[in-house]
Amino acid sequence: MAHEDCIFCKILNGDIPSAKVYEDEHVYAFLDISQVTKGHTLVIPKQHTKNIYETPPEVAKELFARIPQIANAIKNVYKPVGMNLLNNNEAPADQSVFHLHIHIIPRYGEDDGYSSNWTVHADDYTSGELQKIAEEIHSAIEQ
Ligand code: 5GP
Ligand code: ZN
Repeated sequence: MAHEDCIFCKILNGDIPSAKVYEDEHVYAFLDISQVTKGHTLVIPKQHTKNIYETPPEVAKELFARIPQIANAIKNVYKPVGMNLLNNNEAPADQSVFHLHIHIIPRYGEDDGYSSNWTVHADDYTSGELQKIAEEIHSAIEQ
């Protein structure tokens, strides 16, 4: 079901134009209007789902199943040196459009416009602490 105020549902309906890369029964892929790098593509499910938290497994399955094909097409056409997949969930994590989407960002070198500045905390956790965190998450996974 399309959501009235959702810009990506409007794109799916053809109410807002987009540069289509791929389409089938379940999935639509189009160029991000703000290209981080040449070929920056968004892949979305046709079924509106706000973000990864609300995504049923079947929708996730169909969405991710198309990504290797699309990524390989971008790779073959533009010969990037690498590629990043990105998915933002909730505003504090930089989600600005609340219809699930995966960014495919081809990479052309260090100064190509993309950056992800992670500060790693490898030494902050003992193996026992890592084990405890893993167990806490594991026991919260709904089967
Ligand atoms: P987010 O920040 O939610 O992960 O990414 C949303 C992306 O959607 C942004 O990179 C933004 O450029 C893109 N976007 C927003 N509105 C439109 C639009 O109307 N058309 C297209 N093609 N991309 C859009
Ligand atoms: Zn939507």
